[in-house]
Amino acid sequence: NAVVHWFKMDLRIRDNTALHLASDKARQTGVPLIALAPIRVDFMLRTLKVLKEDLAKLDIPLWVETVEERKRVPARIVELMTEWGANHLFANMEYEIDELRREAKLVRMCAEKGISMDVLHDACVVPPGQLTTGTGKQYAVYSPWFRAWVRHVHTNPELLELFDPPERNPESARMQYAKLFSCEIPLAPESKRLSQEDAKKFDTLWPAGEHEAMKRLARFCDEDIGGYGKHRNIPSMPGTSNLSVHFASGTLSAKTAVRTARERNNTKKLDAGNEGIQTWISEVAWRDFYKHVLVHWPYVCMNKPFKPEYSNIEWSYDKEHFDAWTRGRTGYPMVDAAMRQLQGLGWMHNRCRMVVASFISKDLLLDWRMGERFFMENLIDGDFASNNGGWGFAASVGVDPQPYFRIFNPLLQSEKFDPDGEYIRKWVPELRGVKGKAIHDPYGRGAGVQAQKAGYPRPIVDHKGARERALAAYKKGIDSG
Ligand code: FAD
Repeated sequence: NAVVHWFKMDLRIRDNTALHLASDKARQTGVPLIALAPIRVDFMLRTLKVLKEDLAKLDIPLWVETVEERKRVPARIVELMTEWGANHLFANMEYEIDELRREAKLVRMCAEKGISMDVLHDACVVPPGQLTTGTGKQYAVYSPWFRAWVRHVHTNPELLELFDPPERNPESARMQYAKLFSCEIPLAPESKRLSQEDAKKFDTLWPAGEHEAMKRLARFCDEDIGGYGKHRNIPSMPGTSNLSVHFASGTLSAKTAVRTARERNNTKKLDAGNEGIQTWISEVAWRDFYKHVLVHWPYVCMNKPFKPEYSNIEWSYDKEHFDAWTRGRTGYPMVDAAMRQLQGLGWMHNRCRMVVASFISKDLLLDWRMGERFFMENLIDGDFASNNGGWGFAASVGVDPQPYFRIFNPLLQSEKFDPDGEYIRKWVPELRGVKGKAIHDPYGRGAGVQAQKAGYPRPIVDHKGARERALAAYKKGIDSG
């Protein structure tokens, strides 16, 4: 009887909880593996190639199954398990409501066929459900949650113990699973296929697979983590780790990341020693925080604001405004640079994510869910929990949000975090010739003629007026809630 590990967003062999247990269980029998329905298709497919090679070295096959309809996934897995004579399915848990429902269904379907299924916590350092306030509730504010997270890891050091990669299959597995070894990694469906030029670009920008993740992590921890506290808010600097795509695809486990950072510190404490290391670990912990939020308040997965009293805000659905935002043509240089960075890299700096999300939901008063969706469709690191959390923060409708009356001024954000306009000049070529502080607000600071000649648009809204409009709309929505 064979054991199957179902890969989802955990595309690595190192420190993979369910894969490790599957391998432990299967020692005598071999582990055929499947991966299903990838999003962020290009990166995932490149990752699968690496995974397949790594597994083949252990005589473990990787079976890639393409399922047209998501809801067919459980039935197809049961069919494959039956075809392979497998009696035990392992998988790591995903916490979004649809995924949890799918897993519940699959456990039932497996049971009907006499197949066991184990679904395990793997994505977070501290699994959801382990941290509660003194009164037994889930924390809705990050800082006390983070203190509890740190305490919990200190008192349960095994949370940072890493699982070994799977054991090598016995030699007979090659013969036994010959058919599975012949499985090819498919091409992306035509609608999601990149042009050759883009495919090359993204391959260089975002090398795939867990070895690349480990290289990037080691380099960041050796070279940049010390300065992270100082540099992480400056979008023109390569001051952050750029590891989000690996966290989101599971080519890097959160435990491995935190442990590697901790090893560079002069203490085992997560809240002491080098400031850059502490700050970085606390950012990685945000990822855990937002996953815990999904589990405790699953309605945030259903297009609802975390704060129900924010359900009655009258959002705008102005298509021209939305298009200007997506194309980086709002007339606000920092916003436009950021949106063009997203188009160019499939990634955006965290400070800029906050600025553009605040701009669309407050200055344009567009429904934040339009922006949330656009991000998920365009980010290489799109992760439902972190994205939803980030949008909730910036639009003031989420857990532990920016208060609604504290509205970012995109011009001041630009002056503060891109003082010399380096980031703007990189991404907005029309403004490269603009000198000095006018770069932040060319039409308001005497560079309008130059900007216009270069084809840069005027601001699509006036920030002062837009701010007043947003304050009134939020207040009205809350009062009527
Ligand atoms: P680093 O600064 O090096 O941080 C290390 C890791 O910590 C990140 O890779 C990420 O896994 C985690 N992290 C850091 N900041 C946050 C945060 N605020 N929330 C949750 N996790 C965090 N992150 C995603 O991974 N996917 C998303 O879809 C996503 N959408 C976002 C949308 C908005 C509106 C906002 C404000 C933030 C969003 N973030 C998202 C969080 C953050 O912007 C990115 O994780 C970060 O920019 C990734 O770059 P990095 O790997 O260099 O981060």
